[in-house]
Amino acid sequence: MIKMLTKFENNDFSVDEFYSEISKKLKGYEFSSFALGVGYPKEIKEETKKKLRVDFQKGLVYKISKELNKKVDYKNKDILIIIDLIGKKIEYVFKPIYVQGRYNKYSRELPQTYRYCFKCRGKGCKLCDGKGKLSETSVEEILREYFLELFAAEELKFHGAGREDVDVLMLGNGRPFVLELAEPRKRSISKKELKDLEKKINLNEKEIQIHKLKFCKEEKVEKIKQADHKKLYLALVECDEKISQKEIKALKGKHYVKQRTPERVSARRSDLIRERVGKIKKVEYVSENEFKVWIKADAGLYIKEFISGDAGRSIPSVSELLGKKCKCKQLDVLKIL
Ligand SMILES: [Zn+2]
Repeated sequence: MIKMLTKFENNDFSVDEFYSEISKKLKGYEFSSFALGVGYPKEIKEETKKKLRVDFQKGLVYKISKELNKKVDYKNKDILIIIDLIGKKIEYVFKPIYVQGRYNKYSRELPQTYRYCFKCRGKGCKLCDGKGKLSETSVEEILREYFLELFAAEELKFHGAGREDVDVLMLGNGRPFVLELAEPRKRSISKKELKDLEKKINLNEKEIQIHKLKFCKEEKVEKIKQADHKKLYLALVECDEKISQKEIKALKGKHYVKQRTPERVSARRSDLIRERVGKIKKVEYVSENEFKVWIKADAGLYIKEFISGDAGRSIPSVSELLGKKCKCKQLDVLKIL
């Protein structure tokens, strides 16, 4: 948040004037601690600088702290105020609030996050019906409304521990996520209020449910992004030819899969060959062309491709093991392990 000022023209800085500007800006923001930095231009003589540091900078810090009854804390601050005498502006850096939780997704049309239209890059075109996005809503967008309201925040960033495809359900214990609330005006939200929000969302929403909401630290974002969770999947497989109970039973066991990055994601991921374990734990005959498989998979194994074979890019695959062409008709994440 940047605000241009007109009171920078000479080096005669008034504590009162700056205080008035800053306190006006911070009105409406809950915070208990702050820090203040000043960037001085080179032209200012060292002597003048020394004087400004004492008279102006220290004076201003003291005034803000005393008048607004806030703690000065350079290590752990809710707000950092930067007076930039070079750029002639005051900048405010608000510490975000982080909330972690887990979500279930019960829709095969709901993506995890906002899907920009790749064709127009959000401007609006024929493909996206002028909306600039490819899905009506997403887990992220559903949560955004609730959280921006509760924290009176400017923006929400969604960090997921991986993601499932749009048409894949996220069941069981749910997928971990962290929400980053930027520039919150409310910081005094209690654990109880957070729990109440969880209940409210779960009552109102059908396509998603959330659990285990709690406040967390910034470090959690990196942690959940790096976490290599094994997952349990249930896939409904469709086969081109007739299959027997005996054939599908033979699929059971541990498979070391060499998998080249699938074509469908190669625009976003680097093209390389990964080795991942996919353990087929259980199979169930549905009809002569369909069966179910329960797969416990390493993080990063592409299940749809492990089933189809992805034109030789996944070895082995369910298709290869059966010697019959198969494809994944429906997929659910049953559990994040
Ligand atoms: Zn578009």
